[in-house]
Amino acid sequence: MTAKKALLAGLALSTLGSVAQAADEVNIYSYRQEFLIKPLLEAFTAETGIKANVIFSKKGLLERLEHEGANSPADVILTSDVGPLHDAVERDLVGTINSDIVDANVPAHYRSKEDKWVGLTARSRIIYASKDRVEPGEIQSYEDLADPKWKGRICTRSGKHSYNLSLIGSIIEHDGAEQAEQWLAAVKENLARRPQGNDRAQVKAVKEGQCDLALGNTYYYGKMLTNTKEPEQVEWAKSVNLVFPNQDDRGAHMSISGAALAKHAPHPDAAIKLIEFLTSEKAQQMYAEVNYEFPVREGIEWSDLLKEHMGEFKADEVNLGDVVKHRAEASRLVDKVGFDN
Ligand code: FE
Repeated sequence: MTAKKALLAGLALSTLGSVAQAADEVNIYSYRQEFLIKPLLEAFTAETGIKANVIFSKKGLLERLEHEGANSPADVILTSDVGPLHDAVERDLVGTINSDIVDANVPAHYRSKEDKWVGLTARSRIIYASKDRVEPGEIQSYEDLADPKWKGRICTRSGKHSYNLSLIGSIIEHDGAEQAEQWLAAVKENLARRPQGNDRAQVKAVKEGQCDLALGNTYYYGKMLTNTKEPEQVEWAKSVNLVFPNQDDRGAHMSISGAALAKHAPHPDAAIKLIEFLTSEKAQQMYAEVNYEFPVREGIEWSDLLKEHMGEFKADEVNLGDVVKHRAEASRLVDKVGFDN
């Protein structure tokens, strides 16, 4: 969104101050992009008659909430990762989602144990392996990334990126902090280059022969494979096999996009209705389809692309709360082993 549009959206929302008690509105602060959220909100309004006002921003929404305090017009916070949900809890910005509907729709491992946040879509952080230079089955687990045979062959974005902090958090949870540190130090030794770029840039680097393995979220595969604006991305995607790690033990690391209820929500009932709607069959279908993510809800048909390229895989069902709680420790380890240097 342009700065001007963002400003207009902000103004539109701030004028709501006078009608903040109206029961038929809900105000959303969304880190998730407009193209994903708009169709869902339109469907929500069509179904419930509740007007949905939204501010989109890539950053600063939690700071804004903090700043606004008890006067915040925000009811619902939508994030594109579990990290900011955890941050929001730590900063005391969220309320409790008391809803049997949400509990029934979303498996427990994708919900905060204290009902402070809920997953709306899921993705796995997988290994993209060169079709030319890595045999199928040659790499099978996250732990395998530490094997010296991969020296100079792995690409990743910053260890400090939210997605990697969650992955490292899952290694801490499963293998312990000491093992995780050794693992991270060994993976660093295997890097082909200093961590840089986004997830797609790593797959590009595999295509171009700079490395043989890359870490990336699953939905980027769909976004690359169907990219008509930048057709070279189709070639990046076609150069790799998707490796879902740890299929013989705990399963592939999963993360979520999700929602939280703002602590000072002026329309808590409408907010809960919206969160419930986003876990409904209809919304789950829509939500996952547009962005090549997995529905969090069971029994929802996957998009054709996911069915074709990802099929069945074993997902780690550890409670995500037990993974995100290690993020500060994960960040410390990244510094300690000089992962990004
Ligand atoms: Fe992403």
